[in-house]
Amino acid sequence: MDSIALPLLQDSDSTADALAAMRRHGRGAVVRQTGLSFDLLTPGDLFGAMQRKRKALAEVDPSEQLYMAQPVDLVGRGVSLVVPRSTEGAYEGILDDAGFRKYGLLAASADMAIVFSRNEPGLDDFREGPANCHCTNCGKAAPGGRGGDKCRRCGQNKVYCLPGE
Ligand SMILES: [Zn+2]
Repeated sequence: MDSIALPLLQDSDSTADALAAMRRHGRGAVVRQTGLSFDLLTPGDLFGAMQRKRKALAEVDPSEQLYMAQPVDLVGRGVSLVVPRSTEGAYEGILDDAGFRKYGLLAASADMAIVFSRNEPGLDDFREGPANCHCTNCGKAAPGGRGGDKCRRCGQNKVYCLPGE
């Protein structure tokens, strides 16, 4: 189990807003809020949308939908909010009961959200800001690459680079 604070944006914000927030906070993902629904957007998701000339975050296809932890999950299971890892079994149980989703949302403020994962390495890709090039298939960073390059993780020619960088 692991947790991380990510920038929180609204579906009315733009892909450029999301990219700027990732860079400002040094994070490789943002949380998009649509009413009471929350999705995880990675640089690969954003770049894929930009490639298709989509500007609104509402138009971005998300990597994952986040399970929003409910009061009954938190109180009923006795999870720790301050030191989440001390109750990692309880967090894993929340995701298991939610239908085996990879990520859950623990808390949200005006512009940041706390996301938790079941597996330790699940959040490592999100601890660094976005590169200038990312695979739009698997999301892997391809720093210094060129558009159309073959991705080193998934092998597809789906690397997209931000124009002018
Ligand atoms: Zn890839």
